[in-house]
Amino acid sequence: MPLEEYKRKRKFDETPEPAGKVEKKSTHRFVVQKHDATRLHYDFRLEMEGVLKSWAVPKGPSLDPGDKRLAMQVEDHPVSYFDFEGNIPEGNYGAGTVMVWDVGTWQPLSPVAVQGKYNPGTDAEAVTMLAKGDLKFRLKGTKLSGDFALIKMKGRRPGSKGTEWLLIKKHDDYAQEGYDIDGYDESVLTHRSLADIAGDAGSREWRSRPAAGRGKLKAAWLADAIARLDKKKAAAAGGKKKSKVK
Ligand code: MN
Repeated sequence: MPLEEYKRKRKFDETPEPAGKVEKKSTHRFVVQKHDATRLHYDFRLEMEGVLKSWAVPKGPSLDPGDKRLAMQVEDHPVSYFDFEGNIPEGNYGAGTVMVWDVGTWQPLSPVAVQGKYNPGTDAEAVTMLAKGDLKFRLKGTKLSGDFALIKMKGRRPGSKGTEWLLIKKHDDYAQEGYDIDGYDESVLTHRSLADIAGDAGSREWRSRPAAGRGKLKAAWLADAIARLDKKKAAAAGGKKKSKVK
């Protein structure tokens, strides 16, 4: 059952994470969440087959084709996880702070290069590439853009769980030698740092972009995601105020 493992690991009466369900349609979005859990890592997720296919990347994605980033495949997440940013309480799975580090759209690439270039592929090709452990795709995000591959490692090492993949940037106009992910500690949705989010247990002011700036957002779904976050935040603030009046 899809999302079974996701649901089994979480207590939805304690964590602010969404319970979610498998969606009928997928709209080819991707999200990278910076997650300060037991160990800091980045979660790379592709919207596919009604869920978010997910990998935990300890060092985070890189735009340098020379970096081969270990990516541990983890349980599928619900699509509603897409804009989750906040704090998972102590004692819960993945306890710690989550930031929406990057969002955008992705496109499958055809598995075979033509004269060194990869052309757009089909969803069916993406499903096959994922099953074969060699998924090529193109990202169009705020921080990450260009062609990438996720390649499954053969379980050679003893103790290997068979969940190890490598996330690799292809050579193209978006490649950046010496890319340093630590220079980008800002939420693409709320412009907060990880420390800002960690200190924001409902008491701090919501520092998001002014509404005027949002009209300029090209992607309607991104504007929607930000509006939903604002709504949740306003509801939480409202609830707090009310509880004080007793
Ligand atoms: Mn994580």
